[in-house]
Amino acid sequence: MFDPSQMHLATGAIHVGHSIDPATGAVVQPLITSTTFARDSEGHLVPGRDIYTRASNPNRRSLEEKLAWLEGGSEALAFSSGQAAAYAVFQSLGTGSHVLLPSDLYYNTKLLVEQVFSSWGLTYTSVDMTDLEATQAAILPNSRLIWIETPSNPQLRITSIPEIVQMAHEKGLYVVCDNTWATPYCCQPLSLGADLSMHSTTKYLGGHSDILGGVLIANDKTDVSWWQQLKQIQTLGGGVPSPFDCWLLQRSLCTFPIRMQAHCENAQLLAHFLEEHPAIEAVYYPGLVSHSSHSVAQKQMTRGFGGMLSVLVHGSEKEALAVAQRLQLFTHATSLGGVESLVEHRKSVEGIHSVSPDNLLRVSVGIECIDDLIFDWAQALNTTKPII
Ligand SMILES: *Cc1c(COP(=O)(O)O)cnc(C)c1O
Repeated sequence: MFDPSQMHLATGAIHVGHSIDPATGAVVQPLITSTTFARDSEGHLVPGRDIYTRASNPNRRSLEEKLAWLEGGSEALAFSSGQAAAYAVFQSLGTGSHVLLPSDLYYNTKLLVEQVFSSWGLTYTSVDMTDLEATQAAILPNSRLIWIETPSNPQLRITSIPEIVQMAHEKGLYVVCDNTWATPYCCQPLSLGADLSMHSTTKYLGGHSDILGGVLIANDKTDVSWWQQLKQIQTLGGGVPSPFDCWLLQRSLCTFPIRMQAHCENAQLLAHFLEEHPAIEAVYYPGLVSHSSHSVAQKQMTRGFGGMLSVLVHGSEKEALAVAQRLQLFTHATSLGGVESLVEHRKSVEGIHSVSPDNLLRVSVGIECIDDLIFDWAQALNTTKPII
């Protein structure tokens, strides 16, 4: 048998956490929907057998094994959504703790801390983590954790993971990296020293915009008692994915590396096209030499720069919305990471407290043929009416 540590990403994505079903010979792991599992004739637990699905289930165990492997970690905890995974992290910190959040991040992570955890006495500071001095200065005596999101949503800021880790660990703080946008294809935060990697598996790992899920991943350097506590929040709190969602996600992961390669290639080409277009004021994509943190991105994003980019359309909100409306292959909808391309006017989605620029469109570049995607942008931007 191949040792998983010797497998390349595309091989492990198919084979890790997978075995031929001994009972039936099924090549694909059967979906086990049972919530409960039999004891032996004496009433004893059967070694290796699950007890009750909230605690563990065969489909979830093999999914967690694969997710841990993909991320270069040792163990994973699957949740019913990305938010449930983030929830577990903040829940584990205890009352009176303080956390550092990036100033540009997934909007609902901030809302979770601000609106749900404020009544538990959790406080936070938003800081631009590309500014290491400002980050250092934001650490308080009761700070427990630095939350990184890189590339950030929606401005594609790049945070240097090793530098934040060093700063955090000197002061005894944990580092959690929301790796949803970069994915383990592009970036492996645990190998750069982060204590936990977190994902909304709803996005690239699921890849088809049809499964909600989340995951936390640890390696053998992660604080064991903290990890046990997170596991307890998963199994007692019960924010776990259904066996069917685990089964579907397991299936999606088989094609994850090959999908991600296509996302990265398409996004890089579309970013170059848009950067040259006179109707576009700016393109935020870490794979462009013009990106303010391109060199940091090159160091920590090893296989590509991801499938997400944002553009500022010349003009205001009105012009940006008109472009989104004229696009035909890019559906105007929230979310990201599916095989189909999406575009979104982020400010309208985030609401009145949004700090996203008025003329920003966030683009999830799908895996359609790049010629068609570029053609679609060309027709949407080259209108007879000047849009400036
Ligand atoms: C979507 C997303 C989340 C939240 O995940 P859900 O699965 O929607 O709960 C968290 N972080 C990032 C970066 C995301 O894109």
